[in-house]
Amino acid sequence: MVRIAVDLNRCQGYAQCAFLAPEIFAMHGDEALLYDPEADDAPREKLDRAAAACPVQAILVDAVEPGGLEPGAADAPAEGVSRAR
Ligand code: SF4
Repeated sequence: MVRIAVDLNRCQGYAQCAFLAPEIFAMHGDEALLYDPEADDAPREKLDRAAAACPVQAILVDAVEPGGLEPGAADAPAEGVSRAR
């Protein structure tokens, strides 16, 4: 299973991901991003390209470690995915 996490605190709505992997990412309005966090049907190459194309590197592919760590817990910067507002 491929797990995806997007740091919505970083996401600026540039829509590069929605352009490159529309099966997974979609824009809702001008800035809100919708995505499927369990992207089993998406080609891995597309996901990797979408993550690489994100100008603010907000997309994590394979976000959950096998040992059960939370997305981004292992090596994300301080302002990573788990920060809540
Ligand atoms: S490419 Fe990055 S900044 Fe743009 S919508 Fe996707 S996640 Fe957000």
